[in-house]
Amino acid sequence: MSTPSRPRPEPGRIHKISMDERKTSFTEVSRGFPPEEAVKEAARCLQCKNAPCSKGCPAGIDVREFVRFIREQNFQSSIDKIRESNSLPGVCGRVCPQEEQCQKACVFNAKKIPIQIGYLERFVADWELAHGKRQPARSAAPKEKVAVIGAGPAGLTCAADLVREGFDVHLFEALHVAGGVLMYGIPEFRLPKDIVKKEADYIGSMGVKIETDAVVGRTYTIDELRRDGYKAFFIGVGAGLPILLNIPGENANGVYSANEFLTRVNLMKGYRFPEYDTPVRVGKRVGVLGGGNVALDCARSALRLGAESVTLLYRRTRDEMPARQEEIENTEEEGIHLQFLVTPREILSDDKGNVRGLRLLKNVLGEPDASGRRSPVPQPGTDFELPLDTVIVAVGTAVNPLLLSTMEGLERTKKGYIKVGEDMRTSLPDVFAGGDIVSGSATVILAIQQARTAARAITHYLRNGK
Ligand code: FAD
Ligand code: SF4
Ligand code: SF4
Repeated sequence: MSTPSRPRPEPGRIHKISMDERKTSFTEVSRGFPPEEAVKEAARCLQCKNAPCSKGCPAGIDVREFVRFIREQNFQSSIDKIRESNSLPGVCGRVCPQEEQCQKACVFNAKKIPIQIGYLERFVADWELAHGKRQPARSAAPKEKVAVIGAGPAGLTCAADLVREGFDVHLFEALHVAGGVLMYGIPEFRLPKDIVKKEADYIGSMGVKIETDAVVGRTYTIDELRRDGYKAFFIGVGAGLPILLNIPGENANGVYSANEFLTRVNLMKGYRFPEYDTPVRVGKRVGVLGGGNVALDCARSALRLGAESVTLLYRRTRDEMPARQEEIENTEEEGIHLQFLVTPREILSDDKGNVRGLRLLKNVLGEPDASGRRSPVPQPGTDFELPLDTVIVAVGTAVNPLLLSTMEGLERTKKGYIKVGEDMRTSLPDVFAGGDIVSGSATVILAIQQARTAARAITHYLRNGK
């Protein structure tokens, strides 16, 4: 007689807020795991010897161990384990493209139900916030001064790793808050600002001196900072300059760049007008151009600000969309229409200069381009008009030259990004860089990975003089 096989544990269930609330408020959509569901989900983990999941995490988190601690209901040890490798767990648990990283490598992925590692990471990060963080140990006598420029995920991570090594770390941020895109780009319904603030405050409590409203290149130059005794620099200033379409009609009233739109909504709290005094006007019919996370964030924000219909217009197909899979599903659930294989040719306006629509061409997919994705080929003679009142352009960003143009001898790529070696060293011996300013618009976890590599190289440079 064969022995009956042990029943396989059920996956933990994630809770979401109601659809009515989703369409009318900026409340976070996913509530994540309640404790019993997190423990249930962790119990599914096989604790694989070679832990492929950890190899799939660019930050190098020991996934198997932190999941084991959740299974044992030892949440403090779980978050301590994560913090050894990642200073932004509440952020990464929410916005990492896990399906392409840790969860892709999980052995359960073959059955399409990988361990939901991101949600487990988020669970212990939130547990820690709710139960009070441990006060981190601080170095008694800080060593050399290091300047980190830009307080996005790259700068925050590099600063945290360097202060752990005992350096005297000063983080300069141009805006009035730390967080970078996490604060001004990604909307509240995906990433509550309170989470970002608390994770940045924690890095401050480790001993990093965070100076906001400090635009390096203007408030101070790198040379002035050198004269002030800074021995090494990390540049993590992102690449937030909007790219425009360069088509006729782009100056019409009712056209926003994604950057302007999301900054108004998030940083200036436009979604809480009139409590805060930044109104963000959207018309009844909104069109968003793009297919990445930024475009989805714009479309979903426009819906919540009262648009009656929102259409996302993308030049390739769903398969090539660079956005997170979970967010594509959320976007469609909320009733946003996805229209594929179109290229905008002209923004149409009425006699008062207000947007009245878009003229588009239909595309087919051609040969793969440099990104490896099949490139869109517009088809002559397929023009059509789409009536719209607001157009949001979310087709990418470029480098802001403000700081880099002040740095003589800093080598850059053809597109203007900073050139680095494998360990994130630039052409200037005391300057290191990481994040979007090196790779172009990418992901939070890639910025974190590069910042950690740079922190190791800076430590080596300051200890060995090379
Ligand atoms: P940033 O986050 O851009 O931070 C750079 C910081 O430097 C900013 O705070 C800026 O104010 C500051 N700065 C700039 N110039 C100066 C100066 N001269 N002096 C001082 N400070 C300066 N990635 C994901 O992984 N998942 C997602 O779901 C996701 N969604 C996104 C949604 C939106 C709307 C956007 C815009 C991006 C999204 N991304 C997502 C991409 C991700 O946010 C970025 O790749 C990441 O933030 C890059 O980090 P960074 O630290 O290099 O730059
Ligand atoms: Fe996965 Fe991102 Fe967490 Fe790494 S940081 S384990 S990739 S969710
Ligand atoms: Fe657990 Fe999946 Fe990692 Fe195996 S690969 S240890 S099942 S999370």
